[in-house]
Amino acid sequence: MTAVLETPVCTDDALAAALAVTPLAEVVGAEETVPTVSGAQVRYANFDYAASAPALAFVAAAVTKALGQYASVHRGAGHLSQVTTARYERARETVRRFVGGRADDTVVFTRNTTDAINLAAHALPADGEVVVLDIEHHANLLPWQRTGRARTVVARPTLDATLDALEAELASAPAALLAVTAASNVTGEVLPIRRLTALAHRHGARILIDGAQLVAHRPVSLASSGVDYLVFSGHKVYAPFGAGVLIGRPDWLDAAEPYLAGGGATAHVELTETTWHTGAARHEAGSPNVLGAVAIAAAAEAITGLGFELIGYHEHDLLSRLDAGLAALPGITPLRIFEAPDDVPNGAVADRVGIAGFAVAGRAAREVAEYLSDHHGIGVRDGKFCAHPLLSRLGHGDGAVRVSFGLGTGSDDVDRLLAALAQLTGA
Ligand code: PMP
Repeated sequence: MTAVLETPVCTDDALAAALAVTPLAEVVGAEETVPTVSGAQVRYANFDYAASAPALAFVAAAVTKALGQYASVHRGAGHLSQVTTARYERARETVRRFVGGRADDTVVFTRNTTDAINLAAHALPADGEVVVLDIEHHANLLPWQRTGRARTVVARPTLDATLDALEAELASAPAALLAVTAASNVTGEVLPIRRLTALAHRHGARILIDGAQLVAHRPVSLASSGVDYLVFSGHKVYAPFGAGVLIGRPDWLDAAEPYLAGGGATAHVELTETTWHTGAARHEAGSPNVLGAVAIAAAAEAITGLGFELIGYHEHDLLSRLDAGLAALPGITPLRIFEAPDDVPNGAVADRVGIAGFAVAGRAAREVAEYLSDHHGIGVRDGKFCAHPLLSRLGHGDGAVRVSFGLGTGSDDVDRLLAALAQLTGA
């Protein structure tokens, strides 16, 4: 069984690969040039969107506007304080709509996905155990590992077998939570959120989805999928660094100690005793990152405006072109978690977001990344992508190369990358 596609995509790979694809949205810094070893200045080709996507021009404009009307948030009586407070709280509602949040879900602004999962781990009920897969980014492993109540399931060669293994683990002993990524930051493979949610709920567990690599690329609806908690980062959804989101069921969050002790989280304070707010404020002590929240909300609006159908076509076209090009080069081994199941005709594999992880025979990953940067002005990622257990299990404990792209990428960028890799591999 392949991952459930929530967005229709172009199925004619050959046609898609032949057509030129222009960037789908304007990103800040798209024309930035960088030096190469030959002394030339070339336009920077950013293939590291999965780490941090460039900000959309639309987002930059929203932040600039908010900066121009900037004053204290939450407690100021002045007009601009009220404007800033309204903007911050509106951002929460925009995020809720963007991910199909339920009316009573709490939307907490955090620093990033890592922070959001640490908050979720902090709010995990005492004695509640967590089931995770070994394919997770460290952000969705270590906070759980630290609770001492994590049970890890090694992903199997196919999605179906992996879901069966999760089912068996959840059936073997009660767990409070299944915490799982929606898309691998190493391979881009998408996991079937709805099936995972049904599976967790069948065994009385809640589910937390690490949406860091998904929410800019595929529609998510907490309300219709039943997902209990979703986390993601602004800097992977075309907003700048510094803000992220945890959205989900209010009860565990309201029952937990405030994440940080301090102003804004308190309802009543005396020298020896404090009553804390419930809701998002409980876990947002201190002055919040208003501009970060505004940026995420603007990104959500921009992505919604483009629509996931169009985004799906764009990224699928580029990915087809990239995959076909990589397959034609000598010595390139793609990284995959899941094999095509034997019983599915034409080798259907998991749906992927715009990420390709691979190894180049005879070359260290760092050497490949440095070559692409130094000689061609192309930025890719190399290393173990904060997913050390997965890289080791896949036999790439020394690291691999990852290219990733998005709305600001065109087919000329992909062609440039492929031409550079062809030079390196002597194709
Ligand atoms: N989860 C996944 C799947 C990721 O790709 C990343 C970032 N690479 C994170 C979590 C952590 O995100 P952040 O660094 O913004 O906390």
